[in-house]
Amino acid sequence: MPSFVMPDKCDGCKALDKTACQYICPNDLMVLDKDSMKAFNQDPSQCWECMCCVKICPVSAIDVRGYADFVPMGASVVPMRSTDSIMWTVKFRNGNIKRFKFPIRTTPEGEAVPSGGWDNDPDLEGPVLYTEPESNGLPELWMKG
Ligand code: SF4
Ligand code: SF4
Repeated sequence: MPSFVMPDKCDGCKALDKTACQYICPNDLMVLDKDSMKAFNQDPSQCWECMCCVKICPVSAIDVRGYADFVPMGASVVPMRSTDSIMWTVKFRNGNIKRFKFPIRTTPEGEAVPSGGWDNDPDLEGPVLYTEPESNGLPELWMKG
């Protein structure tokens, strides 16, 4: 199910030029209603449910119904970020609550190395991944010929 903004929680990112959810959405779906200073998803049918907006919102105002394979029973899923981890609170329809905490990437903004540090010559036609066989710790990959 696409993301949706809970208006009672959204503070419009305190009237910054661009809100956090507008900044992060890869599909430019989030817009800010300047009258109410509340954001909304302008075209839910185009939402990829990537959860980027859900994770970046500083006041946890965006919700998305998680996929059934990790939150069955139509649970709500609310993330809370800290500097080095993210905590997902999953609330099930029967009232059960479970929390899952994961470490997150801590690379400062703008300093990520797109190649991950690998400088292989990419063989786009080949069957192996970009970093193989080095990333497997192998001199070469055995292929069934
Ligand atoms: S990031 Fe959150 S608080 Fe900011 S405008 Fe979007 S929904 Fe509202
Ligand atoms: S879930 Fe992803 S695609 Fe959907 S509105 Fe949020 S950031 Fe955009």
